[in-house]
Amino acid sequence: MTQPYHSLNYTPCQIRQVDFLPPLVPCDRCGQDARRVDVATRTAIDIDLDHPAVLAVRVSVHYCSPCHHYFRAQPPFLRRDAIFTRRVVRKAIEAVSVDGLAFRTVGQRLARDFWVQPSEAIIRRWCRGYHTGITLDDAYQEWIVAEFSGILCVDELYVRFVLPKRPGWSGMGG
Ligand SMILES: [Zn+2]
Repeated sequence: MTQPYHSLNYTPCQIRQVDFLPPLVPCDRCGQDARRVDVATRTAIDIDLDHPAVLAVRVSVHYCSPCHHYFRAQPPFLRRDAIFTRRVVRKAIEAVSVDGLAFRTVGQRLARDFWVQPSEAIIRRWCRGYHTGITLDDAYQEWIVAEFSGILCVDELYVRFVLPKRPGWSGMGG
């Protein structure tokens, strides 16, 4: 495998643009249909066998007029406010519950096999959530609208993404 940008801090990655933009979703307060009025962007990290995979997710923003309330559509493959996809969560939980790995070694296993390294604290939280019955619905392929290459910049304190300019895509700074 060639890695032209390889260094400690920069690595090539695959970027998948995913659009989750239903025209109508039930209001998260009253349950009535609320129409799409805007689009917001989210970023997520997914597992991949060959290189880091970053999801650039566009989600619809909806307005419920009875509630005077704006909210974002919630994609099934990405938990609210999460940066790792549900596929990452599933792999981490399986490493503990099926393969019997210790919590502290799961991050290293995932880094070696799938290019993601959630912290031990996050993995413990996921496993606790799993035992209290979170459901995992992790397929997002049907919503992929584009795939292209990019550069992932990683340092000790944060992860940010350097995206190539794409028409119609506003990009996500660090
Ligand atoms: Zn409502």
